[in-house]
Amino acid sequence: MLRQKLIVTGVIQGVGFRPFVYKAARKLGLTGFVRNTSRGVEIEAQGKNAGSLQNYIYKYVPPQASIENIKIAPLKIKKEKEFKILISKKYDAQSALLPPDLALCKNCAKEILDTQNRRYNYPLTNCTDCGPRVSITAALPYDRKNTTMNKFKMCPSCAAEYNDPLSRRFHAQPNCCPVCGPQVFFEGEKGEKALKKAARFIDGGKIIALKSIGGYHLACDAKNFKAVTLLRRRKNRPHKPFALMFNDLKTAKKYCRVTPLAAKYLKSSAAPIVMARKKITLRGVADNLNNYGVMLAYTPLHKILFSMLKTDALVMTSGNAAGGALCSLDNEARAKLKNIADGFLFHNREIYNKLDDSVMFEALGKMRFIRRARGYAPRPLTLARRSAKTVCGLGANKTAAACFIDGNKAYLTQYTGNLDKEENRKFYLDAAAKTQKLFSLKPKIFARDLHPDYFTSQLKPSARAVQHHAAHALSVEAEHNLKGKYLGIIFDGMGLGDDGAVWGGEFLVFNNKKYSRAGTFESILLPGGDISVKEIWRLGLGITGNAHDNLFKGINKNDVETALAQIKAGINCPKCGSVGRLFDAAAFLCGLRQTVTYQAQAAMELEAKFTAPAKPYPVKIEKRGGVYTVLTKPAFEEILRRREDAQTVSNRFHSFIIKAAAETAGKIGVKQVVLSGGVFQNKILLEGIYNALTKAGFKVYLNEQVSCNDSGLALGQAYYLL
Ligand code: ZN
Ligand code: ZN
Ligand code: FE
Repeated sequence: MLRQKLIVTGVIQGVGFRPFVYKAARKLGLTGFVRNTSRGVEIEAQGKNAGSLQNYIYKYVPPQASIENIKIAPLKIKKEKEFKILISKKYDAQSALLPPDLALCKNCAKEILDTQNRRYNYPLTNCTDCGPRVSITAALPYDRKNTTMNKFKMCPSCAAEYNDPLSRRFHAQPNCCPVCGPQVFFEGEKGEKALKKAARFIDGGKIIALKSIGGYHLACDAKNFKAVTLLRRRKNRPHKPFALMFNDLKTAKKYCRVTPLAAKYLKSSAAPIVMARKKITLRGVADNLNNYGVMLAYTPLHKILFSMLKTDALVMTSGNAAGGALCSLDNEARAKLKNIADGFLFHNREIYNKLDDSVMFEALGKMRFIRRARGYAPRPLTLARRSAKTVCGLGANKTAAACFIDGNKAYLTQYTGNLDKEENRKFYLDAAAKTQKLFSLKPKIFARDLHPDYFTSQLKPSARAVQHHAAHALSVEAEHNLKGKYLGIIFDGMGLGDDGAVWGGEFLVFNNKKYSRAGTFESILLPGGDISVKEIWRLGLGITGNAHDNLFKGINKNDVETALAQIKAGINCPKCGSVGRLFDAAAFLCGLRQTVTYQAQAAMELEAKFTAPAKPYPVKIEKRGGVYTVLTKPAFEEILRRREDAQTVSNRFHSFIIKAAAETAGKIGVKQVVLSGGVFQNKILLEGIYNALTKAGFKVYLNEQVSCNDSGLALGQAYYLL
């Protein structure tokens, strides 16, 4: 006879862990109890087999749970007859981990389409394996009273499920049904009728706003070019690709090539948007690109909607107005989306924490984050090192996210968009405040970007300033607990450099968090400054110096002349060697486009033209001021001289950057290499440089659990403080 206390930590709340322990205890003939606490799940187990409970837990852990640690302590034997699930007790130390939202499970999917089931066509169905978690949770521990489901009282049937340890809905906090739970509405209709009407709107070419798990989406028939165009016009989003949603994998495979790895992610409970190669062209959805961003129906509402729709492909884009923050509240959605959506499909289960869809792409045999949000947030990263104090990295500006490190856990907020916009600033502050509240994080020390004008920098001007590209490199160091010297190859958009110039194509040699700039790219001119990011023809003008070139046809003559004057006088004409800008310039010089309407558009379209590696443009590296400098002029001159088509330029330019990176790394000679920065979302470059370096004997490290773009950068900033 034995009695033990077990404290289990990890993602174990809201995933059916206690019922699992209950069943295990019955199987092993144990008495005692299990309960949620804010530091994890606490178990007291007594019986002959009490010693084997730990192994049983590790072996049969429920699919959504992930155990981090089980601490065991012996206890005195007690008199008791049964094993119980006790109600939660609040502890002070809040290390219990809150699960992310979970996509609709197979069992619930069956129930909602079964005419005989009491949850037939009920779009808010959930169980311990699926449904909302973090999005409805205002405080820990994760109990119904701490969620936005607190205002709904369970009916006797639901309560019976909730209290039955053998039910799939045992202690499923958001458990509900059509009788007792939240309801869905659409333009004067309620319940099933509302869903049917919404489906009719979509099939009729209209645009609807619908409330998903972490926020609103805007949806229309992806096969209806008119509807897609209308959505673009109303959203003021001329080109940026729209994500697609399909009912199931089979349909997704009809429209695009889904690799086995992509399929695994699409069907996972995180259910992210995954980039997949186009098979069928849906006009207007992702023009000039090879991939669609694809997801599968991940809420019961989506699933039921598809069962009522004629179309099998939906555009499903974030419910925001032109680059603003995602809408999650009903009033907010109505106000902001009223000129975009023809109807609102909503329900009265409130969203507390808003979460965008996560976005991933496949490279080097793994799925990599572009955006880490729904399905992953707020799950923290576990670092190999511990921080004595709680620290915070404030992030950058365009793809902002904050990061808190507490102990060995790093909590990243989801990315909150471009902070030049007021509503994104609010979103950023709200996401940071809620993350702090939820996990009781009280940061003492802050790090910010070196750029003093960023909104994030101005929040704490006295914070430690970390150079932008150094922070990118540090984010990889943090993930891999790198030791010793390493070379950070950071290809990025633009960030302020230590010398006051704009950087973005950097080779930084790190040693114990100190770094020196060992290599870079020869700068090009940015006539007009920031505006050249959108008007990429300006970069081309800096290179050609000839306003009469055919490449400038169609551009306002005055603008071209003014820019030329700026170049000649050296006024409002900064320089930079950002690889992002180099791609923009190459895209312009081969006639791909003169202006862009979304971030990285030209670079993405140039990547889409890539077919195979080709003879690189000449790689010439000079030492300038002690820094290896990859010359860019020879490449651009050759593009201009030969007037090659976009495909040739894409093939040769990618090969040029890959060769330049490998040769520069070879000259620098540091054998551990880190690749980060937003440009590495370019799969051709990432794989090309990774493979070239690995072949040459380098050990290469990448971002794995955070994005290589600025939404992962705050991790590096915070890590710098450790
Ligand atoms: Zn379920
Ligand atoms: Zn009910
Ligand atoms: Fe960056």
